[in-house]
Amino acid sequence: MNASDLASSYELVVIGGGPAGLAAAALAAKAGVQTVLFDENPGVGGQIYRGIGTTPVRNRAILGEDYWAGAALASEARASGATIVNGATVWSLDPNRLVGVSISGQARMIQAQRVIVATGSMERPFPIPGWTLPGVMTAGAAQTALKAQGLVPTGRTIIAGCGPLLWLLAAQLLRAGAGIEAILDTTPRINWLKAAMHLPDFALSPYWSKGLALLREVKAKVPVIAAHRIVAHGKDKLAEVVFATGTGERRMTADLLLLHHGVVPNVNLAMAAGVAHRWNGRQLCFEPAVDADFGTSVHGIAVAGDGAGIAGGTAAAERGRIAALAVIQTLKPGATVPNMQMMRQTLAREEMGRAFLDALYQPAPSFRRPVGDTIACRCEEVTAKQVRDTADLGCEGPNQMKAFLRCGMGPCQGRLCGLTITELIAEQRRSTPQEVGYYRLRPPVKPITLAELASLPKTEAERKAVER
Ligand SMILES: Cc1cc2nc3c(=O)[nH]c(=O)nc-3n(C[C@H](O)[C@H](O)[C@H](O)COP(=O)(O)OP(=O)(O)OC[C@H]3O[C@@H](n4cnc5c(N)ncnc54)[C@H](O)[C@@H]3O)c2cc1C
Repeated sequence: MNASDLASSYELVVIGGGPAGLAAAALAAKAGVQTVLFDENPGVGGQIYRGIGTTPVRNRAILGEDYWAGAALASEARASGATIVNGATVWSLDPNRLVGVSISGQARMIQAQRVIVATGSMERPFPIPGWTLPGVMTAGAAQTALKAQGLVPTGRTIIAGCGPLLWLLAAQLLRAGAGIEAILDTTPRINWLKAAMHLPDFALSPYWSKGLALLREVKAKVPVIAAHRIVAHGKDKLAEVVFATGTGERRMTADLLLLHHGVVPNVNLAMAAGVAHRWNGRQLCFEPAVDADFGTSVHGIAVAGDGAGIAGGTAAAERGRIAALAVIQTLKPGATVPNMQMMRQTLAREEMGRAFLDALYQPAPSFRRPVGDTIACRCEEVTAKQVRDTADLGCEGPNQMKAFLRCGMGPCQGRLCGLTITELIAEQRRSTPQEVGYYRLRPPVKPITLAELASLPKTEAERKAVER
């Protein structure tokens, strides 16, 4: 679809084609709400169902049955009557629900009566010495390459970090025939004590059996080593990984190091739209303040899925449905809709095991708050020492830090350094991430070209929206 084929306004704009967005768009469109869904990727599916319908991976066992469950969600959305636009990057959303979107280099401003932001999650930054070396990447990136292109790492591969996704990816790579030299497990021992109180709920949740099966499958094939400090070494590319264990330092030669310390909400678009966010001390990230229907501080804008706090794919779809139901009740009060109570019960069941996982897989402070010459902001190559020294000079927050050091001003717009910068300042100033705050985000939240801006049909409202 071209940008010029879009209507200038829609009743509902859904941003993000993962489980939350797909479920929301399907339910709303089926109830007669004029719905458009924008997703920046070539196909729908989001993170968990990436490449569903086009993946070159034929052997279902490799990705596991949870992945293939995405096919039904995708076809339900396609059959619902919603307009689904792929390759559509949303770079602006204002408090009046004017949406800036680009498709194949053409930009348009679309007015929405209601917006559901379902932009999902991203991997937490994992700033260690050498993390910018070629040969070091995130575990999620390797999973994306597997799901979307069927690519499997070759050479000596080491996975480091903690979190459910790490074990899932390790199992998927092993099933796909990859060799994994070792898993450097950074789960702090103390976390088991913190997590223990949540064990009963976890044992009753769907995560219990799936998680244990994954751990058993991977540990049968790969040495798992508890590590509490990790350094990637190499001149022009990764050559070896040096890590500290309870019994001393070890070195392993490696061609590929996959890092993973969990996922966090992708806050950029919602924050830039003025949605109030707060620090979640359990998930160690910022999340939007949402009500029971995932409504936010900005009227007519809801945030659903992992963008509203990490709870996984199935919970994301249920959150999308609940947000859509609230929209239907407002825009189509007479429509026949599923039972909201049932959805809330399903969601509660899905969220049950989360507290245990959040407590167990909280990365250690040393991995979240680096020191010395470790790069904190990759785009602008700002080191942890620079940030700490500048905080000692009196810099109170990330926006001032941005002015002093340019951190957060690169192509990723703070996605890969925001949490690190906030936590470093909070530690240095003996304050809290909530008090320190996060970058003040503005549109465009994704890079766009001047040509795209120039391609915008000019109306007064739209000119004002971009000049904010
Ligand atoms: C790299 C990665 C891999 C993961 N793999 C798994 C897995 O295998 N299994 C699992 O259970 N969980 C996985 N997760 C966790 C995942 O967050 C959830 O399971 C689930 O995908 C969340 O669904 P969602 O609909 O909230 O968001 P997502 O699935 O994240 O979908 C959000 C979609 O919005 C798009 N988007 C974001 N911003 C914009 C924009 N400005 N304009 C247009 N489109 C935009 C994104 O590209 C994405 O397609 C993964 C997370 C990450 C970060």
